[in-house]
Amino acid sequence: MKAIQVLEPGNIQIIDRAIPQIENDDEVLVKVRYAGICGSDMHIYHGTSPVATYPRVIGHEFVGEIVETGKSVRNLKAGDKVVIEPIYYCGECYPCRMGRPNVCEKLEVLGVHRDGGFQEYVTVKAANAHKFAEHLRWDEAVLIEPFTIACQATWRGDVRKGDYVFIQGAGPIGLAILQYAKYRGGICIVSDVVESKLAEAKNLGADYTVNVLKQDIASEIKRITGGMGANVTIDAACTPKTFETAVNVTSPAGRVVVMGFDVAPSQIPQFMITKGELTICGSRLQTNKFPEVIDLFNQRKLNPTALVSHKMHFTQIKEAIRIAEDKKQQVSKILLEF
Ligand SMILES: [Zn+2]
Ligand SMILES: [Zn+2]
Repeated sequence: MKAIQVLEPGNIQIIDRAIPQIENDDEVLVKVRYAGICGSDMHIYHGTSPVATYPRVIGHEFVGEIVETGKSVRNLKAGDKVVIEPIYYCGECYPCRMGRPNVCEKLEVLGVHRDGGFQEYVTVKAANAHKFAEHLRWDEAVLIEPFTIACQATWRGDVRKGDYVFIQGAGPIGLAILQYAKYRGGICIVSDVVESKLAEAKNLGADYTVNVLKQDIASEIKRITGGMGANVTIDAACTPKTFETAVNVTSPAGRVVVMGFDVAPSQIPQFMITKGELTICGSRLQTNKFPEVIDLFNQRKLNPTALVSHKMHFTQIKEAIRIAEDKKQQVSKILLEF
């Protein structure tokens, strides 16, 4: 079978390897059908991921069909359509005991710390394979994982009905967060620097959009919220500057959700946080959000395909990376068919 492997930063190849075998009774063998390319896959390719190890078969957004099940697996059978929850954790450390296995001390993410989904077959623990409804297409269901990230961010930000929610960045994650925040009843403001992405945000229900190259973000947020500020700000643009802006434009008693992996510091005076008792929290991966998101997908309550700009065969991975880099403004989510 074929697999897409990053041998070392900057060097990605399609390699031949044996189809993996079930080694433990609680595992399943999955034939991968569709996968999505994520910003973090690009970081691993470029060597800018602070957590990845090499060589690595990348890919953590993927769906497929169960081919074989281990002896102790009861809830899955050959032919089931599944989406993979890409995290492995110890179950014993402090975060795991707190019900937050996504930040486990021994966290391993498929496609980052362990080989992931950009291969024709993969074995995973049955507990990591979630069934979805038969009527969903592969190219829809493959967006379940990115939407769990959006679900997590709106949960961490405690988005409530009627809250002003400011989302920075209208890439695939920003647009998924927008849809989730709308679902939770938020009034959504989306910022970006690309007009076409802001137009897409409008199509997906953004109540307001702001082009930060043309408008002053702080005064726009003030104007829209009647001087109050955004109640929840979710930073899906993830630069040192956007984090500063987030703290600056969030209302007293508001929440700021941080999602970036940038290691450069931001300049944020303590008083900005103390005076309005802001809650500033990180949002990473997701905590048991697959069942909720799968349910919304099964009912077609979200619009996942709006995030997709390209569909390609997995053997075109180098071309896909070239497109992701050269045409940043036109590219949203690129899907790979296996
Ligand atoms: Zn991702
Ligand atoms: Zn743990």
